[in-house]
Amino acid sequence: MKAVTFQEKQRVEVKEVEAPSIQQNDDMIVRITATGICGSDLHLYHGGFPLPQDYIIGHEPMGIVEEVGPDVKTLKKGDRVVIPFNVSCGHCYYCSNHMESQCDNSNPHGEPGGLFGYSKANGNYPGGQAEYLRVPYADFSSFKVPENSELDDESVLFLSDVIPTAYWSVENSGVKTGDTVIVLGAGPVGLMVQKFAWIKGAERVIAVDHVDHRLAHAKKANNVETINFKENKEIGSKLHELTKGGADVVIDCVGMDGTVPPDNTFGSEGDNQYGTISPIITASQAVRKFGVVQLTGVYGTEANNFPLGDFFTRNVALTMGQAPVIHMMPALYKMVENKLIDPTDIITHSFSISEAAEAYRIFDKKEDGSIKTILKP
Ligand code: NAD
Ligand code: ZN
Ligand code: ZN
Repeated sequence: MKAVTFQEKQRVEVKEVEAPSIQQNDDMIVRITATGICGSDLHLYHGGFPLPQDYIIGHEPMGIVEEVGPDVKTLKKGDRVVIPFNVSCGHCYYCSNHMESQCDNSNPHGEPGGLFGYSKANGNYPGGQAEYLRVPYADFSSFKVPENSELDDESVLFLSDVIPTAYWSVENSGVKTGDTVIVLGAGPVGLMVQKFAWIKGAERVIAVDHVDHRLAHAKKANNVETINFKENKEIGSKLHELTKGGADVVIDCVGMDGTVPPDNTFGSEGDNQYGTISPIITASQAVRKFGVVQLTGVYGTEANNFPLGDFFTRNVALTMGQAPVIHMMPALYKMVENKLIDPTDIITHSFSISEAAEAYRIFDKKEDGSIKTILKP
């Protein structure tokens, strides 16, 4: 089968590899029909987490069940499924208590919980940017799209990650009616967070980025205020002033690639300073006293210059982590079906899997108006 494989920093290649097979009785094999490229894949692309050559990437897949192991009870060949990015057993303490992203059994290498296509440290599961995917714990680690569903792949695909991640980000940070919410990063995740901030009752939502077309989209699609940090170098204090003392909640949807190079060129090369943490510094300045900073953007390294004193002395709470996706999928599917949110407006590019190298390049450089890029094997 064809699969997107990591080769070296900023180079992925579509290769012919052996198709996966059932290994455990509760596994299934899914024939992938659509799969997203995520900001999290860019951390891999930029070498933020070490990957061996030929590792298969991808954690936002959906498709048709091709084969099930003998212990799979709720699924059969031909079912249409969306696969959450977390690999989770379904019966440990964490899976039983809506914390599937820290499943005790899905990572043979220890902690944290397993993730598809995200290196040995996260369980060493081959990813979903491929023609076929092996899904362990099939009954639990999947969402079956109802048989009578009228929704196309584009409408349900992001139940694998972006929709639940965004929903969880506003839940976990306690956004409530009347709040002012600042969303750092107007990529796919940030854009979806903006939608849920409104749904949760925010009174003011402010989007921060330096990519003009993404900010324009945020304004048009989500009716938020926007601010370009390239034109506002003291962005933290500017936001503090704009919100008259800081926002109730600041949600970082950037992560470790959002660091500003020391020469202040604001390059989005990502290829740089994993040791500096500019979105966190912005957040620490833009949040009000007793406010909340939620880190949804991924951090995988030690970070110097962390403004711990600012958090402590101003009573700011810090929340973070990988979203536990599975338990939220049925309710969020209903929200999409009932048109409470439209996740499709973020899709700007769709490629065949053979074109993955170009798809990654465009998504990384944010060229050609790119927001969310999907691959359709
Ligand atoms: P993306 O790379 O497309 O978007 C990030 C955006 O941040 C870009 O538009 C970029 O221009 C902007 N940006 C860069 N530096 C900035 C800064 N200093 N301040 C404000 N904006 C800045 O990625 P995405 O797909 O939207 O994902 C966003 C983040 O969320 C990534 O770090 C990804 O790994 C993470 N993520 C986390 C989870 C989770 O469970 N916690 C799930 C999915 C994605
Ligand atoms: Zn993702
Ligand atoms: Zn578990």
